[in-house]
Amino acid sequence: MTNLAIIISRKDYRENHVLLDLYTQNSGRIKLLARGAKKFKAKLSSHLEPLSLVEILIIPSKSIDYLASSNTKNYFTGIKNSWSKLETAGKVLNVFSQTVKDNEKEEKLFNYLLLWLNKLDDLEEENCSYLFSLWMIHFLELLGYMPNLKNCQSCQKKLNSGRQYFNFSLGGLLCLDCKNKFSLTNLYQLSENSIKLLRFLANNQEKIIVKKTLIKELDIFLDKYWQYYKN
Ligand SMILES: [Zn+2]
Repeated sequence: MTNLAIIISRKDYRENHVLLDLYTQNSGRIKLLARGAKKFKAKLSSHLEPLSLVEILIIPSKSIDYLASSNTKNYFTGIKNSWSKLETAGKVLNVFSQTVKDNEKEEKLFNYLLLWLNKLDDLEEENCSYLFSLWMIHFLELLGYMPNLKNCQSCQKKLNSGRQYFNFSLGGLLCLDCKNKFSLTNLYQLSENSIKLLRFLANNQEKIIVKKTLIKELDIFLDKYWQYYKN
């Protein structure tokens, strides 16, 4: 059975083999051994670069399954030819591989990663800065950790405008009255604009242009939030 896969990483294995870490459409995250892949460098290896979409055929084995054949569907050259896009994609694959376990199958995760890679591949480099936050928020949503941005997580009141406080253990925002009831260590301040942007990204996939400083604020917050839930 052929299977579509995104190559997360590859490493040399013994003299001539290559060990691949893949996220597949049908079987989730798997490790595969490409036998002799180093020997036929030009022929096989070039098809097996991290950050490529490949169609693969698997030979099951008692220990680690083998790669029977592969056919590259997309090299994402738009990403590989841009340093900043490559850095963004690297950050995403890093979060992905630290979060998603082997054999954890979720077709939605595969589909969203592929959709996102296509988006990063196509966009002009200068407008890509928000894509890490965009991916993060939808990734968290698919994992069931979507932050609650509508009501106060303590009294359920609708939130006023202005700066807000996010509580990691509650997974959402607190109103100004309630925030004093919680320990400061679990609170994270977010500007009004970053909350607006977070809400927008959670509901839209369309192209936007955002200030770099705002994106930076969001990137840092989402990374902290993810670190909290990962543990
Ligand atoms: Zn409240």
